[in-house]
Amino acid sequence: MFPAVCRSLRDSCARVLDRCYRLFPCLSDPARRSSLGLKAALVTLHVVFVGVLFLFDADLVKKTKHEPWYTALYLVLLLATLVQYFLTSGSSPGYVIDAMGYVNEANAVFRKIPASSKQPASSKNGNVVISVEGSQPGRNLPGSHATSWTKLVLDMYPPGTSIRSLTCSYCNVEQPPRAKHCHDCERCVLQFDHHCVWLGTCVGQGNHCRFWWYIFEETALSIWTGILYISYLKVNIARAWWKDAIMIVLLVILAISLIFLLLLLLFHSYLILTNQTTYELVRRRRIPYLRGIPERVYPFSNGVCRNLYNFCCVRTSIYNLERLPTAREIEEKSRPYTCLDFLTCRCC
Ligand SMILES: [Zn+2]
Ligand SMILES: [Zn+2]
Repeated sequence: MFPAVCRSLRDSCARVLDRCYRLFPCLSDPARRSSLGLKAALVTLHVVFVGVLFLFDADLVKKTKHEPWYTALYLVLLLATLVQYFLTSGSSPGYVIDAMGYVNEANAVFRKIPASSKQPASSKNGNVVISVEGSQPGRNLPGSHATSWTKLVLDMYPPGTSIRSLTCSYCNVEQPPRAKHCHDCERCVLQFDHHCVWLGTCVGQGNHCRFWWYIFEETALSIWTGILYISYLKVNIARAWWKDAIMIVLLVILAISLIFLLLLLLFHSYLILTNQTTYELVRRRRIPYLRGIPERVYPFSNGVCRNLYNFCCVRTSIYNLERLPTAREIEEKSRPYTCLDFLTCRCC
């Protein structure tokens, strides 16, 4: 009986230890990528970096009393960064299944409308904009009143494309151009960029703009915090060695994070200006619709200004499905630049 009790106790301990181990988030282990744990870790990191500063830096506390606006601005930036993080994390990246459901629902409603009141399908440059604003489906679907999702997707590809090659084998939906299945979210995402483990969600058409603003705010906060750390070390060096040691270690971590954030910000700014995604850039040669397109040609770009406008003015209530450019358009885009092109601001 005694060995049986020991075994039961050992099993219980192992189960408790396993649960405790799973509570600690780990980016490389999908089972331990607990969304709640990662969010708690991110908030704790911010609190530690800012808290240590206010705990050690008596000059900053003194300055707060004389110039409260300075500290207030810094704390507003901290709060805005955290709010932006939670907003981005909780936003939808634009799932194909949602867009498909809306189109099919609108199609069903449309079929009930008398033929005399039907409007012809109108889509700009072959791209389809699906707006989900309003309560009645079908009212805001300019490009797809008389069509099903399957036909809508097929029309975006060159004639003769097989629907089987466009169907996702995991979630069984037809993917429009630029969509990709995410194995973490287990859904297909429109304009898939990447799955962000820090946010616990994908970055796609629906939240890329929010993601950029989050990196921007995080970068600004890191720069400001770094300046405050350096100011402290300049004035207080050699007063208390252990405080300096903690501050120097935190400053090194901050500097490494800042380099990473700056590179990420620049990289995503470049992607936005050329209307590309991280996935398209990294896997360019493996993506069927990008194969054969010259390296310096950005097939979905509408010019820097238009790309920027489309990116900044994107609304979460809109799904923008971009068709594949024709061979003629690709040829036009790959034409070498002339002096006239520079004068007329030809887009890239
Ligand atoms: Zn899928
Ligand atoms: Zn994902």
